[in-house]
Amino acid sequence: LRPEVLDLSDTLTDLSHLLNRLVGERVSLTVSHDPALAPIRADKRQLEQVIMNLVVNARDAMPTGGEIRIETALHHMKQELRRDRAVVPPGDYVLIRVVDEGQGIPADKLSKIFEPFFTTKRVGEGTGLGLSTAYGIVKQSGGFIFVDSVPGSGSCFTIYLPVLGPVLPDARAGDRA
Ligand code: C2E
Repeated sequence: LRPEVLDLSDTLTDLSHLLNRLVGERVSLTVSHDPALAPIRADKRQLEQVIMNLVVNARDAMPTGGEIRIETALHHMKQELRRDRAVVPPGDYVLIRVVDEGQGIPADKLSKIFEPFFTTKRVGEGTGLGLSTAYGIVKQSGGFIFVDSVPGSGSCFTIYLPVLGPVLPDARAGDRA
């Protein structure tokens, strides 16, 4: 693990060419940055791997095409968030959302998708390691990852990465998440 101070907007901009190639011609990819993002501390290569995993899954969920949106936001968590047995402490986070318009994930599978070797893909198509790897990397960066999904209309993966150091009140005013 080689954690470094990262500006996520730069990381995503650097990665966008590769992501556009990955999604192919039927799928469009839009990246929208919160202009007021704060620095985080993470391993750049690993974080890129997480985003690539999520984008490939989103693409595969839309075999006939559609749109993938990657959004970032600076988010001030006023009180702890309890979700999926996780407890996200209050504080400032950089959020990354990867949103697709794919077939969605059935409710009974949602709680399992971050487990190793779990896959909704057909035999031979997925290793089942993508999301558990993503989960592990996010954990190692002190972050959290959650999924929302509506079968038939799409999925949204949200990553919370703790902001490095204090966030200026000015930046916080732009908090939309
Ligand atoms: P769990 O997956 O059974 O994990 C139990 C404990 O093992 C975690 O407690 C954590 O201390 C450790 N652990 C598990 N996986 C990793 C990992 O990849 N890296 C590291 N460094 N430690 C790991 P914790 O954090 O209190 O979490 C309790 C339960 O909350 C977890 O049970 C899991 O079900 C859920 N959870 C925690 N973080 C997340 C998250 O980011 N997303 C989601 N969806 N669930 C989470």
